[in-house]
Amino acid sequence: MSNTYWLNGKYIQKEEAYVSPLTHTLHYGLGAFEGVRSYASHDESSVSIFRLQEHTERLFESAKIINVDINHSMEEVMDAQLGVIEKSGLKDAYIRPLIYLNDERLGLDIDDMNSHLMISCWDWPSYFGAEALEAGIDVMVSSFTRQFPNSLMTKGKISGGYVNGVMAHDQAKRNGYQEAILLDTNGFVAEGSGQNIFLIKKGKLITPELTCCLNGITRRSVIKIAKDLDLDVLERQITRDELYTADELFFCGTAVEITPIKSVDKINVGSGHRGDITSKIQQTYLDAVRGKSDKYSDWLSKVK
Ligand code: PMP
Repeated sequence: MSNTYWLNGKYIQKEEAYVSPLTHTLHYGLGAFEGVRSYASHDESSVSIFRLQEHTERLFESAKIINVDINHSMEEVMDAQLGVIEKSGLKDAYIRPLIYLNDERLGLDIDDMNSHLMISCWDWPSYFGAEALEAGIDVMVSSFTRQFPNSLMTKGKISGGYVNGVMAHDQAKRNGYQEAILLDTNGFVAEGSGQNIFLIKKGKLITPELTCCLNGITRRSVIKIAKDLDLDVLERQITRDELYTADELFFCGTAVEITPIKSVDKINVGSGHRGDITSKIQQTYLDAVRGKSDKYSDWLSKVK
């Protein structure tokens, strides 16, 4: 972990960043966060944050959804993310902005409580291990249902909502899988515990529409890349059995990047290996994040 934190407008050291056990967000989960990545350029000459503006916009939308103010401008919050990377000296890093309510008081009434914004970063090379990017992972369809949009909004990264994903992920691990796929309340595929999902059938990409999954920034990047590669992309409901009969399947997200899925419920996906279309999209994405492709250079914000 980095020693550099940005808290409410100031850079501080790790030791100054601890919170009380009576922190409101710790008890009730009313907070919101982002997950952002920085990457060294392919020639190691610079470091950039991937899609900083989109992540920061989503942070502000998450805050609006939970009715907690952010006491800083978008520009300040973007500068702070660039600043923690610069001060940490990290290159390939994961950045975590978190909005939370502190320990002024407990109880469910949040009227007039001050909001706090913390940003930190750390070295987080590969979510499922480097080999998973090529070999793929084994996943199960979870017995947990993705939260219904009217019980916990799905457009924000709301802290308490992640109990659902953590429990599904933990269940999958305890059962010998690496990750879970959650279905929505109607039994259609929603997403992974913390990643969106794409299915490939007869050369077309299919992904769930945005009713019950996060509007992932990697999902948006994949759709753009696929269209640029002249591939059709459909956003529609996906049934569980379509997972079993897909030619290729992959997860996408800031943390997992593009991770192939090699089996679902112990049924091989296609040949059980990373497919050609997944490989192409993955390579284009990894080139884009490292500034190897002029086409996507506006997705990168350079760290000083
Ligand atoms: N779904 C959920 C529930 C997530 O937590 C994430 C990670 N933010 C994603 C999808 C992928 O979103 P993104 O590509 O913006 O990281």
